[in-house]
Amino acid sequence: MSAKTYKNLIDGAWIESRSGQSYENLNPADTRDVVGIFQRSDQRDIADAVAAAARAFDRWRLVPAPRRAEIIYRAGELLLERKEEYARQMTQEMGKVLNEARGDVQESVDTAYYMAGEGRRQFGVTVPSELPNKFAMAVRMPIGVCGMISPWNFPMAIPSWKLFPALVCGNTCVIKPAEDTPLSTINLVKALMDAGLPKGVVNVVTGFGPEAGAPLVEQTNVRAVSFTGSSEVGRIVGEVAARSFKPCSLEMGGKNAIIILDDANLDLALEGVLWGAFGTTGQRCTAASRVIVQRGVYRQFADKLIYRAQKLKVGNGIDETVDMGPQVNQAQVETAQKYVDIGKNEGAKLELGGHRLKGPAYDNGWFFEPTVFTDVDPQMRIAQEEIFGPVTALIPCNDFDHAIEIANGVAYGLSSSVYTRDVNKAFKAMRDIYAGITYINAPTIGAEVHLPFGGTKATGNGHREGGLGAIDFYSQWKSIYVDFSDRLQRAQIDMGE
Ligand code: ADP
Repeated sequence: MSAKTYKNLIDGAWIESRSGQSYENLNPADTRDVVGIFQRSDQRDIADAVAAAARAFDRWRLVPAPRRAEIIYRAGELLLERKEEYARQMTQEMGKVLNEARGDVQESVDTAYYMAGEGRRQFGVTVPSELPNKFAMAVRMPIGVCGMISPWNFPMAIPSWKLFPALVCGNTCVIKPAEDTPLSTINLVKALMDAGLPKGVVNVVTGFGPEAGAPLVEQTNVRAVSFTGSSEVGRIVGEVAARSFKPCSLEMGGKNAIIILDDANLDLALEGVLWGAFGTTGQRCTAASRVIVQRGVYRQFADKLIYRAQKLKVGNGIDETVDMGPQVNQAQVETAQKYVDIGKNEGAKLELGGHRLKGPAYDNGWFFEPTVFTDVDPQMRIAQEEIFGPVTALIPCNDFDHAIEIANGVAYGLSSSVYTRDVNKAFKAMRDIYAGITYINAPTIGAEVHLPFGGTKATGNGHREGGLGAIDFYSQWKSIYVDFSDRLQRAQIDMGE
């Protein structure tokens, strides 16, 4: 059966790229399976989409926010109805196991419900004026056309984090999904369109980063940019956006640590590390790619982890009995392999895995073994650089302070976790770990959509997705003064009657 062709969504119509070019999206568990044919777009398609979004903005910004929110809510209901279908397509296009793909769709449902609620909030402030017979308030304004560039690892959840808050605030959008996962974004936007979103309010342009992503950031009519992806690309996006003073939200890499102290519940910590390190095949920006273990339980924990990790069933994520799916593409497998070699050369002890899987079930996909390094020095590259694969590094530590020093001693600051039964240590960790997210007695992954998501240092540039952080990013403050005194009153000069 020949694969279906999917088109760009511009001004409410599904259309081909201007160049007429397209590309194949392949199943990473079996690259003989073509998920679909997608448009390979360039700056002309982006220009068309931005022009459509700019036209739609004039109408959409005037739709009352609670009405905008109702459309988002309905989209959430449709996503829930279509959860199984969309989850299966997600597993097919990016490899995560079906249960996690369901979670990804659910996250977009949660985001829809949460952001729909914001339609009746988006609170501003009223404050007393310093002058008599004068009213003062600050309200949230939409920004205009928002350009969004998303990654493949949460192909529906992350686009929903960007689109729903932008829409409820009254913005219009052009989204360029990752080249590996256009279908999940198209599915998300289909739900929005079926929920009654007017044409042009959201436009989807598929294609590759330099060809379709870069021009989106450059477009003059794009007033804000939201990017999730690698720090290398984020730096380019941020610099280009800065040239034209566009607000730009960057959410990038992580090198997240789980700290396990001597007094931890080791079995609980074990479950957390297995989930944090190997969930989504380690391809989460919050993945636990470092495990810092206090020496008193270090060897015992290492043995438990290796025993359990080697039992993980790796395979096609569509099979419900599989624990870990493939990596998303060849480049990711090569990166995992590269870091295994780097780790070995640095003198870390490879105690589990380290190879691409071979055999009939694996040869047509991008499968890599769950991999555990032990005796890792905090300064080694495998303990410093993001790998984005099923590779984790066990680092021994002496005590609590040493653990925090190691946890903070990387360029990134996204997520973090501490396993301890000592409430004093837990609270010190909450205060002293310099990261955007800290979990106590839970792994580094598992964000809830109504809390801010993002990180410090090379992880981000200070903005947050999720929670109120998103409303802050997708709106601008306008301060409004209403003088009903019928005379000129000068602030800071007329000091009263
Ligand atoms: P990942 O490692 O998750 O693939 P990337 O940073 O390479 O992260 O990609 C994230 C998103 O950024 C994708 O949608 C990709 O197409 C896009 N992208 C890649 N290069 C550029 C670029 N030069 N300008 C704008 N977007 C880009």
